[in-house]
Amino acid sequence: MKEKKKDIRALTKEQLQDFFVAQGDKSFRGSQVYEWLWNKSAHSFEDMTNISKATRQMMEDNFVINHIRVDQMQRSSDGTIKNAVRLHDDLTVESVLIPTKKRTTACVSSQVGCSLDCRFCATATLKRMRNLNPDEIYDQVVAIDNESRLYFDKPLSNIVFMGMGEPLMNYNNVMKSIEKITSKEGLGMSSKRITISTSGVPKMIKKLADDETKVKLAVSLHSAIDEIRTTIMPFNATFPLVDLQEALEYWYEKTKSRITYEYIVWEGINDTRKDAEALVKFCKYVPCKVNLIEYNPIDDGVFQQASSEATSMYENMLERNGITVTVRRSRGKDIDAACGQLANKSS
Ligand code: SF4
Repeated sequence: MKEKKKDIRALTKEQLQDFFVAQGDKSFRGSQVYEWLWNKSAHSFEDMTNISKATRQMMEDNFVINHIRVDQMQRSSDGTIKNAVRLHDDLTVESVLIPTKKRTTACVSSQVGCSLDCRFCATATLKRMRNLNPDEIYDQVVAIDNESRLYFDKPLSNIVFMGMGEPLMNYNNVMKSIEKITSKEGLGMSSKRITISTSGVPKMIKKLADDETKVKLAVSLHSAIDEIRTTIMPFNATFPLVDLQEALEYWYEKTKSRITYEYIVWEGINDTRKDAEALVKFCKYVPCKVNLIEYNPIDDGVFQQASSEATSMYENMLERNGITVTVRRSRGKDIDAACGQLANKSS
C-alpha cells in the first residue's frame, strides 16, 4: 500500500532543518522552506522559486501542503465578512472578519463542530468531528489578514478564538498556531492582540496561566447562578462556578491580566435583578470587564433577546458597582456570522 504523505507544516523548523541535512543538503534549506511555508504562505512547492527544481520535486515526493481553501466569502451590509473554509478532508469551518473604525478583528474556529453543548449556540448542533491542526487555524488568520488588507486597506489588528469550537479543548494545537501567528516567520503579531474566549474549563485556564502565553482571556459566562448556567451550558454541572472562580483567581494572580466576561441577557432566563446581582458579585472576585452581547436567535424560539430595560438594568447595576461594561451590538447578522451563529449554513 502506498504510504500517505505527511503534511510538511506539521514539522517544526528544527525538524525541517534536520530533514534537509539527512538529504545531504544544508540546514539553511530547511529555514528557507520554513519561511515559504509560514511567512509567505506558499500553497505549493512550485511557488518556492528560490529553491532548485530537483529539491522541489524531492519535497513533492515526500510531503503535501494541506492548505485550506476559502470556498465561499459572504459580505454583510455592515462590512463583516464570513469565510466558509474547506479543509483538506473536505470538512468545513467558518471564520469571520469584523471591521470597525479602529481595528479589524479575526474570529477564528478551533474545532470542526464543538465538544460542548451550549443550548443557545448554533455550533453545538454540529457534533465535534475533529480538532483543527495548527496550520489550519493559522491559515484562517492569514486568509482574513489578506481580506483586511484588500477590503479595508490595513492589516489585521486583533484575533479572537471565538469561532466554532472550544479552544481550550484543543489546547496544544491552538498554542502552536499562536506560536506561528506571533513568530517573525509567521505574522509577527503581538500575543497581547490575541484573545482566547472560553466557556470556562478551569483546569485549562490554569494551564494557560502557567504557560505564560501573554494572551488575553475572555469567558462566556451568561449566568453567575449555577442552576441557571447549567440549564444553558450543561457542562457547568461538571465545572461549576466555584471551580471557575478559583481558576480565574489563579489566572489573575499569575498574569495580572484583566478578564472579559461575555454575557447575553435572555428573556425569562437571566433577566431579573437577582441575576444581575449575582453577576456583580462574581465580578468582584477578579478585575474584569463585562461585554453585554446582543443575542442572535438561532431559530429555535427558546432563547430570545431580553428587553432593552433588562439590558439597561444590568448596565446600570454594573456601573454603579464600578465594573466596566460595554453593550455590544452584534455584527454580520444578515449572513449568520454573529456570535453563536456559526453552523456551516453557507456550505
Ligand atoms: S458557545 Fe462555544 S463552547 Fe459553547 S457550544 Fe458554542 S462553540 Fe462550543
